[in-house]
Amino acid sequence: MKLCRFDQNRLGVVFGDRVHDVTEVLEHLPPLRWPVAPGDHFIRHFAALKGSLTHAAEQREGRPVSSVSLLSPVANPSKIIAAPVNYAKHVAEARADVGINFGTDVKTIDHYGLFLKSNTSLVGPAEGVRLPEGDRRVDHEVEVVVVIGEECEGVAEKHALDVVFGYCLGLDMSVRGTEDRSWRKSYDSFTVLGPHLVTADEIPDPSDLHMSLNVNRSVRQDASTSALIFDIPRLISYASAAYRLYPGDVIMTGTPEGVGPVEPGDLIVAKGAGLGELAVRVRRRAREERAA
Ligand code: MN
Repeated sequence: MKLCRFDQNRLGVVFGDRVHDVTEVLEHLPPLRWPVAPGDHFIRHFAALKGSLTHAAEQREGRPVSSVSLLSPVANPSKIIAAPVNYAKHVAEARADVGINFGTDVKTIDHYGLFLKSNTSLVGPAEGVRLPEGDRRVDHEVEVVVVIGEECEGVAEKHALDVVFGYCLGLDMSVRGTEDRSWRKSYDSFTVLGPHLVTADEIPDPSDLHMSLNVNRSVRQDASTSALIFDIPRLISYASAAYRLYPGDVIMTGTPEGVGPVEPGDLIVAKGAGLGELAVRVRRRAREERAA
């Protein structure tokens, strides 16, 4: 099943290029009481809603996906986990480009571990990426994104795919510089997820998922998850050894080679095998946008 969130927090099921509004099914979610459990309330209860979602989607007339404003398909992750330098060719380009490494020694994921991005950096394609003040270089990073389906910890690699709810495309937008990754990659709008969330049953084997990214129709990134240094099961195991994972938690698996800067007005289009196409516009820098 392909799930999306659109317009004013509508829930949709996507068939082909049409979205079917199934928001009414959310009425069946149990009421939330303070304190709210960590994680995404919808994904936590998805299994109980699945039949109703399918039924509602078949009953409802669809509309073109292109006619709606797509928000992040995951609304409330308890955390956004991300893998640094997880493709060998990206390690090589980072070592070769002082505009990426800023004179620092680029090490590997074994050395760095994982990092966290702010939850408030999360947006959907329709919201756009907003560049920060000044003239700092901001790069695109296309990544395959894993969304966790259940509460778990200490997950063994061989069971890791069992805890996956689904997959989507993601952009890990990054200011280049020497600050900590959690600072440089957590600006508002620096985590773009979409276009929809594909449940894991549609992607039984994520070990060779092709992805690409173009800017203004010029191809910048083109690779497969087969080139990951830490593959998806290992990333889940690695993350869950440190962090308890909750439904809706996001794991950004790392970007392949081809990262590069974006400018206001650019159109970034990411594509992934079975994951659809995510198109997002780069907005003006924060101060100019406020002044406009
Ligand atoms: Mn990244």
